[in-house]
Amino acid sequence: MTAVTPRVTPQQAWDAFIAGNERFIGGISSHPNQDVERRTELVNQQAPDVALFGCSDSRLAAEIIFDCGLGDLFIARNMGHVVAESITASMEYAVSYLGTALIVVLAHDSCGAVAAAIDQSGRAPSPVTQSVRNTLAPILPSVQQLWHRDHRQTPYAEAGSIDANAVGRLHLEATVNELLRNSRAISDAVDRGALGIVGCQYRLTEGRAVPYTAVGPLAIELAPLG
Ligand SMILES: [Zn+2]
Repeated sequence: MTAVTPRVTPQQAWDAFIAGNERFIGGISSHPNQDVERRTELVNQQAPDVALFGCSDSRLAAEIIFDCGLGDLFIARNMGHVVAESITASMEYAVSYLGTALIVVLAHDSCGAVAAAIDQSGRAPSPVTQSVRNTLAPILPSVQQLWHRDHRQTPYAEAGSIDANAVGRLHLEATVNELLRNSRAISDAVDRGALGIVGCQYRLTEGRAVPYTAVGPLAIELAPLG
């Protein structure tokens, strides 16, 4: 594999990426790069400027909500966007060998994985398989963090008394940090200004990806994590 340098700055990648979301929100999607010509052009190459690591949720169809097409996004998704070795490797591959200038971590409101993590943090957790329990485990510290902020009477979280979307935002920030901690290749690219990482929480009703956390050379107005 040959190392590839980015074709655009992280800011340029973000501006193009978020413009697609604005088109989707406004109902004026242009469905670019989805024709036969594009398919042919990509047969022997790909050069996505953006890599996306998001929740598997069926309502987060990435090419639709960011109005882009074939060859535009390098994507890895799993339930609750939980960092694993395969995820880190996928993001490293995009950054190092495809010239990707931006990683977007995509959370969303009403996330089933976050709700399940809250349930697993409760007094009487529902039975889940071992693989689900292991996958949810990295979300539990975010549940605990928010629960203990306001509740001291019990260590067990109660679904009705905790803001699940706020847990999701804490987990989003933790996911961005974990990618950086797990990967020198990713951290080094950020360090030399070649890569930006933005953590967004997608609002299902509005169709908007709201940025809450960012690292790298990016001028983005961030919503408060709260
Ligand atoms: Zn989800």
